[in-house]
Formats: sequence, C-alpha cells, structure tokens
Amino acid sequence: MSLRHLITIRDLDYREALQILDTAEAMAATQSHRVKKLPTLHGRTVVNLFFEDSTRTRISFETAAKRLSADVINFSAKGSSVSKGESLKDTALTLQAMGADAVVVRHSSSGAAHRLAHAGWMDLPVINAGDGTHQHPTQALLDAMTMRRHLKRQPGDGDPVAPGTDLAGIQVVIVGDVLHSRVARSNVDLLTLLGATVTLVAPPTLLPVGVDEWACEVDYDFDHALAQNPDAVMMLRVQRERMSPAGGGFFPSPGEYHASYGLDRQRFAALPSHTIVMHPGPMNRGLEISAEAADSPRSVVVEQVANGVSVRMAALYLLLAPEGASHE
Ligand code: ASP
Repeated sequence: MSLRHLITIRDLDYREALQILDTAEAMAATQSHRVKKLPTLHGRTVVNLFFEDSTRTRISFETAAKRLSADVINFSAKGSSVSKGESLKDTALTLQAMGADAVVVRHSSSGAAHRLAHAGWMDLPVINAGDGTHQHPTQALLDAMTMRRHLKRQPGDGDPVAPGTDLAGIQVVIVGDVLHSRVARSNVDLLTLLGATVTLVAPPTLLPVGVDEWACEVDYDFDHALAQNPDAVMMLRVQRERMSPAGGGFFPSPGEYHASYGLDRQRFAALPSHTIVMHPGPMNRGLEISAEAADSPRSVVVEQVANGVSVRMAALYLLLAPEGASHE
C-alpha cells in the first residue's frame, strides 16, 4: 500500500479501502487459531499515544499490535509530562528518539493526528485513533467490515472491484449526535466510497453546519427514515462530555431524546428482519438505544469490537510490514 499514514478516510481511494478490508479478513482468519500471534511485526515498537480517555480503542490497538508480535508502549496523557505542559512536538521528538516505529494517536483536537504526521517533527507512520469531532478511520473500517459480512452482495450485482460497488445497494441510517461524531463523518466518507447510501438522522441541534454538502441524505424524523427499510441502523452515542453545559440545549430532556431518536422497543420490533443494529460503543442504554435492541441477536455490537482488532492488525501490517512483504 502506498499510504504512509492513516489519518482520514478521505486519504483512501476505493482500491486502498478494499485492500485494508480484505487484509482485515485475512487477519480475522488467523484469529480463530489456537495460537493467535503472528510474527510479522516482531521487533517493532508501536506507541499508543492517548490524550483523550479511551479504554476500548486503546485495548483494541494494543491487542492488534501484540497479535502481530510488536512491542507496545501505552502513553497516556494523564499523569505524563503532557499534563505538565509538554507540547505535541516535544512528545513527537521524544517518541522518535526512543526508537518507536509507529504511533497510534487519539486527541481531543481535530487535526492533531494530521499535525503529528505532517509537521516534520518525526518520521513515523501515524494512525489516527480519533481526533476531536473529525475522523476515526479504523472505526469506519471495522463498521464496513461488519456490514460486508452481514449484508452480502447478491450474485449478478456487478463487478465487485469496480469503484463504488462493494456495498452498492446497501442503505445505512446513522442516528443521533452527528455533531460531535467522528464516527459519523468517517462512516459517511467510507460507506459512500464503497457505494452504500447513507442517511443521517438527528435533531437540527445535533447536526453540524455544512452537513448539506456531505454525500448523504439528512432526515430529522427517525420513523420516516426507518420506513425506507434500511439494511443497517447505526446508533451514535450522545457525547455529553463534549456538550457544554453537559447535555444543555441540544435536546429538551433524555426522555424526549429517547422518544424521538432512540432505538426503542417499538422501533426495534418494526425493523425489517434482515436489518442489523450497530453502535460504536460505549452505549448509553436507555438513551440512544434500548436494552432490547442492544442485546438482541440482530445487534452486531460485539462483532464490531472483534472486527476492530482485525482492522487494526490490517492497518498496522500495511503501514509497517517490512519492505518486500506482499501488499498487493
Ligand atoms: N468510541 C467512539 C469514538 O471514540 C464513539 C464514541 O465515543 O461515541 O469516537
């Protein structure tokens, strides 16, 4: 793969996106073996640089790197010199000097991953594990992997390698706090690149300025969007930690939010039988998603987590595997 970093889905063309997804499938196949570890990145060091709280994404990247035999250093901003005021630049210089081979970064500022990769402070591949409200490319890739597995193309749908055909005909509804969601942005970019149709559903207060220019439909009415029989319904977490004052002004009350935009028991029961229910986690049960929907056999939330490890193994492999490894 010619990519040096994985910062946004927009850096990928159709072929590169499929290459990551196909490599993730190959990685997943190795994970059913009794010994899951591959020697591929033996002797390489991956640094998880997390300036924002995260448990699942950090553990997922750590697991992925370790399954490829890399050494992993977890560098969390809390309790580090970053909290004493060290700049991103000095942190980057330190990592390079210590001999890191790749950096996985999560940061509350949109653009931080791009800056780390392109400011010239260090010469290491960077994977964006979520920057502010901007992008979370490996999340979108694991979501696409999950959709590919469940919403298979029918024979005769055309040439799967022709651009934009991989998820052609698939309708995805993404619901909730789009305003603060790097997951929604990354998914709109990737799903449309793969040929799916995306509808965003949210109250006007939780939609970003300029959303009309995104390559998707926008609907304020969840029931109207569900009446189109989507193939996948992706519920977004209400990101109260990014709302100031907490929860204030974006919706009248949690109860009203749930009534209008929650995947409650009635809406869940009315979904077409093939429709899958997705959530990037962590879930606010009773707010954006009911326990009935979250725990049902049609919920693929746990599979999303498993696919996350495979996608991150694929990304690390493609960016880091030694010269000469077959990438094509
Ligand atoms: N875990 C995802 C993220 O980091 C989604 C969320 O936090 O709501 O963006």
